[in-house]
Amino acid sequence: MSRHIKGSSRSQATLFPEMLEDFVAKENPVRVIDVFVDGLDLENLGFKGVQSKATGRPGYHPAILLKIYIYGYLNRIQSSRCLERETQRNVELMWLTERLSPDFKTIADFRKDNHLGIKNACKTFVQMCHKFNMFSEATVAIDGSKFKASNNKDKNYTPSKIKSHIERVEKHINKYFQQLEQSDSQENSPNNIANIESKLDFLNQHLAELKEMELAVNKHPDKQISTVDPDSRLMKTQGMTRAVCYNIQSAVDTKHHLIVAHEVTNTTDRGQLCNMTKQTLKALGKSVTTILADKGYYSRQDIKDTQDLGVSTLVPKTDTSGSEKKGIFNKSLFQYNEDNDVYICPAGNELQHRFNAIEGGLDIKIYFNGMACKNCTIRSQCTRSKKDPRRMRRWIHEADMEKMEALLKATPDAMLQRKQTVEHPFGTIKLWAGATHLLTRGFKNVSTELNLHVLAYNLKRMLNIFGSEILMKEVMLP
Ligand code: SF4
Repeated sequence: MSRHIKGSSRSQATLFPEMLEDFVAKENPVRVIDVFVDGLDLENLGFKGVQSKATGRPGYHPAILLKIYIYGYLNRIQSSRCLERETQRNVELMWLTERLSPDFKTIADFRKDNHLGIKNACKTFVQMCHKFNMFSEATVAIDGSKFKASNNKDKNYTPSKIKSHIERVEKHINKYFQQLEQSDSQENSPNNIANIESKLDFLNQHLAELKEMELAVNKHPDKQISTVDPDSRLMKTQGMTRAVCYNIQSAVDTKHHLIVAHEVTNTTDRGQLCNMTKQTLKALGKSVTTILADKGYYSRQDIKDTQDLGVSTLVPKTDTSGSEKKGIFNKSLFQYNEDNDVYICPAGNELQHRFNAIEGGLDIKIYFNGMACKNCTIRSQCTRSKKDPRRMRRWIHEADMEKMEALLKATPDAMLQRKQTVEHPFGTIKLWAGATHLLTRGFKNVSTELNLHVLAYNLKRMLNIFGSEILMKEVMLP
């Protein structure tokens, strides 16, 4: 006789029927979702369908659909079809929706039609955390993360890709033309000739399409076109690999690793620092004093604009001069003397300020000393030019950049703190999202998807920090 633990019989009736409430423990996170959504003023947040229509078939209340989505994103179920299935078999979801089971189209349409509402719900949760002093450390780290778009690499066209496609098709066309000529001379069977001609028709049509695409790609401001999700772009991901992605910007607090602000972009990190800082200040106010970012954000004007917002910025500098590659003295070997406004070169000569020039939109001061360079014994190590002296360029606000570099040197742990803070949240979200990170297409829909991801991530962090019972009592029901 088996001595294993036995379950109860499937046909066993109970004297007191079991309720759904019995299956959901008091500390179950699903109760937090319920309390959070019920506490939202959905109409004010911008959700559609809060007021039911007087006529027609009644629809689902947006609270039910929002609860389904938050539960789904918290439990790695993002697709509307999977969510529909879960509402029919998952006891937690049955409890959450009071046994309502909307079809997948209704679930998908809710995400598509409530961009504003979902964005505001995500913001409301951040404000809730802020009120509960979760962002008291005043330092925020900013970084971008590449999320794979719903667009295959083959459906993305750049000038070089198109060129290679055209070359390949033209090669095939030439090959078939040669075969056609041989067939004519050898009086081949009509069937064979018809076969080659049909292949040529197909290839000529394909070539015409590619040439049309080539024109469109060259006209496009970004010099690339994604045909499935037009807003996505081919980007460098880890190492030398490339994928069609969105670059999701995020600002994460260093204390509890909560995401304060995020934005969906399709450009590089450069130029995003001030924008993300503004969004962080909007969410947290003047309590933010320091912004950390990696060298991908090093853009002098952008850093200056960020500093002008009243925050201290720490971004490591990138050396883009190429001096070392050319085998000449690096700029760092020239010392700037602020009192006399001159540079002291490695030979000990003074390079004076001669004139200003606008370079890359920046007002740049140019320094050189023609006489000293002419007679210099180490000139070959300093410049490749036979005629012109070595020139130094200095932005008119360079002193602000130098102060930042000095501050960065004085806080060597800053970049480690940045890495430990900002790389964690999106690593987690990508893991939850699975191999194909994004299910939707276009800026608006991807942004809605990210709002749900961020809301679920922040909720999970708060659950881990406080536990569901405290979170419900102290934070959501103050
Ligand atoms: S070439 Fe001119 S700038 Fe360079 S080390 Fe000589 S004197 Fe100085």
